[in-house]
Amino acid sequence: CGIVGYVGPSAASTFLLDGLRRLEYRGYDSAGIATQLASGAISLTKAVGRIDNLAAKLQPATSSGQIGIGHTRWATHGKPTEVNAHPHLGGEGEVVVVHNGVIENYAALREHLEADGYRFVSSTDTESVAHLIAYCLKQAEPHAKRLNEKHRHGILVEAVSQAVRQLRGTYGLAILFRDYPGVIIAARQGSPLVVGVGSGEHFLASDASPLAGRTDKIVYLADHQLAIITADSLQVEHRETGHVQHAIQALEIEN
Ligand code: GLU
Repeated sequence: CGIVGYVGPSAASTFLLDGLRRLEYRGYDSAGIATQLASGAISLTKAVGRIDNLAAKLQPATSSGQIGIGHTRWATHGKPTEVNAHPHLGGEGEVVVVHNGVIENYAALREHLEADGYRFVSSTDTESVAHLIAYCLKQAEPHAKRLNEKHRHGILVEAVSQAVRQLRGTYGLAILFRDYPGVIIAARQGSPLVVGVGSGEHFLASDASPLAGRTDKIVYLADHQLAIITADSLQVEHRETGHVQHAIQALEIEN
């Protein structure tokens, strides 16, 4: 239902919680955040019910990451439980995903991925996306360890592009990668996503309301686009045709 993301010099959880509160008006049944330390280690917190329940459960490790993603869920597939709350893990936890929307072919994807050894813990459509991205990353990355950062991010773009081409339905996605710390990949089709451009920091959200008071520079992602977001860089790609020159617009919003 609602998505937020942050990468920059501050503790990500501050923006994530504040941003999720600003998205509460859309309605939700559960919420969660994942943050990542510079080492790559990811810590996950989820709670059923209000954002306050989530905030009360945050551990020091979650609170100190300077990059993270968050979600308020309005359940479409699977009951509103803590296990079904986002973020969802793909593979052995190397991929971390939040998702807005509905994946129509999730059951077929799940069947293939389970046959391939991927273990599912939730009853959401979203978990199929998380494992599919982990699968595509494994295909894309044999040489990644020898690449510099820019090319390493190319591996992530390739993996996510391959994965989303196989999805039927709607999605706004924000993704962290355990083995590639410091970058969020966002992707959309049919569910809105915007990026707020700060100085030395970027914000991600499913609508502009979380950006109020943080930045007035906004980039609207279009369907089939991916954003590669680090503290000091923003790159937009079309999933088929490659690099897109993005326009930064002025955000006018009542605070
Ligand atoms: N279909 C997903 C789920 O049920 C996402 C729902 C949402 O947009 O919040 O978990």
